[in-house]
Amino acid sequence: MKITKIEAIPARIPLKPERRMKSALGSHEVSDFVLVRLSTDSGIEGCGEATATPRWSGETVRGAQAMIEDVLAPALIGCDPSDIDSIEERMERVAVYNWFAKSAIEMACWDAVGKDAGSPVYELLGGPVRDLTIRNRFSLGAYPPDVAAQRAAERVSVGFQTIKVKVGTGNETDIARVQAVREAIGPDIEMTIDANGGWSDADARYCLPRLAEFDIALVEQPLPRGNYRELRKLRAESGIRILADESCFDEVELEELIHQNCCDAITLYPGKQGGIRRAFRMAAAAEEHGVPCTIGSNLEWDPGAAAMMQFIVAASNVRIEEIPGDCLGPSYHEFSIVTAPLEFDGPYTTISSRPGIGVEVDWARVEQCRLP
Ligand SMILES: [Mg+2]
Repeated sequence: MKITKIEAIPARIPLKPERRMKSALGSHEVSDFVLVRLSTDSGIEGCGEATATPRWSGETVRGAQAMIEDVLAPALIGCDPSDIDSIEERMERVAVYNWFAKSAIEMACWDAVGKDAGSPVYELLGGPVRDLTIRNRFSLGAYPPDVAAQRAAERVSVGFQTIKVKVGTGNETDIARVQAVREAIGPDIEMTIDANGGWSDADARYCLPRLAEFDIALVEQPLPRGNYRELRKLRAESGIRILADESCFDEVELEELIHQNCCDAITLYPGKQGGIRRAFRMAAAAEEHGVPCTIGSNLEWDPGAAAMMQFIVAASNVRIEEIPGDCLGPSYHEFSIVTAPLEFDGPYTTISSRPGIGVEVDWARVEQCRLP
């Protein structure tokens, strides 16, 4: 099988009003994606998705589209999509970074290869190591305390057992929000917090001791990305468990986090890591050092979330049973672009055992939200 064409289709879709997200990065009300439609000489197609959030990954919808069409695709026409090593290597040779654009192509390769073999991607990665249904945490935006409390209680009532509260939007409001959520959910529900790198070192040192009484299981990305030395000190001095997210895009960053003892766990996912294989490899590398991983979300749409599920099901060190992640992105958006989407039921997400990444894009539906 050879790749004959790679199309990059920019699309925009609003989030459901009740799911609009607010964090230290600002508010997220519409999502921009680049969908990849990869064609092969055997007639089998693969689909992929790049989420485009410049303030988080540096990639824009137009930039990712141009990167795919003008730089990455020309390097891959004629390649065998099952030779993921060579696909990765060729993409690295023509462009640094741009992880989400690269991952969109890589997941489309996996999708085509899985469809050709009649196998879900998790089988191609070595087989499932957990159930096809996973339990998620709920990620709660940095809403005013009363709104946060009410939404948290509502999510607990539908079965969520872990609530992640966004902080990093002002110390006193952060504390008030966390307190309000703890009071609303009671003592038995697990609570984590995520600053998305929005705290300064002084903010973290002010907030963390004051938040301790609300029983925080884990703090995610308390300091800005790249600040390994301060993160290590904060972890050692505060004694709180730290989950690294924005600090870990590539393998060098993963090594820094581990060797500098900066964190207790790392969030990995195919988009941020530049592909399913790369995320899988990084999870295994962390496992060698006894560092567990989990999965985060950039509010993916159907193909991106399906690729995440393939990764979760196959990667033993993505220890969502101990550190729940979230794979709920499609349920945040106003509509789906696939036939037979992932199933969402309260805190649970289920992937089918269909071949490839497990979802089939309806390209006519994509046209309805295509950016001009
Ligand atoms: Mg995060």
